[in-house]
Amino acid sequence: MAYDRNNIFARIIRGEIPCSTVYEDDHVLAFKDIEPKRNIHVLVIPKGPYEDMTAFAAQASEAEIVAYIRAIGLVAEKLGVDVDGYRLIANTGANGHQEVPHLHVHIVGGEPVGPMLKAK
Ligand code: AMP
Repeated sequence: MAYDRNNIFARIIRGEIPCSTVYEDDHVLAFKDIEPKRNIHVLVIPKGPYEDMTAFAAQASEAEIVAYIRAIGLVAEKLGVDVDGYRLIANTGANGHQEVPHLHVHIVGGEPVGPMLKAK
């Protein structure tokens, strides 16, 4: 599927829509989720045009991949959730219930986040 250059996160990267920035470098942007599901809820996105982790893993440069993984750790430290723990979530595609078609990892924490998934 072709990357949608007008998805909401692409527009945030271009500065067309505001966000509450937590961290930014050449390759990565992290900002607060607009509808936080836990006390701390931050989204970490690559600035490049990757719709999900599958595309990112296959197409991103090594510099982008290194920057993204390092940024996730840095943001967790910056938020202080590394001390008591946190959850990373990367919803992917229809079955993964991905709403925004630009790769994003949710960092949720600041309180217990509960079991990983409800039983079926
Ligand atoms: P997902 O279901 O993994 O695609 O999650 C998309 C997330 O993006 C949701 O948690 C939304 O609350 C969040 N979101 C949507 N629009 C914005 C926005 N303009 N700024 C910050 N977060 C947003």
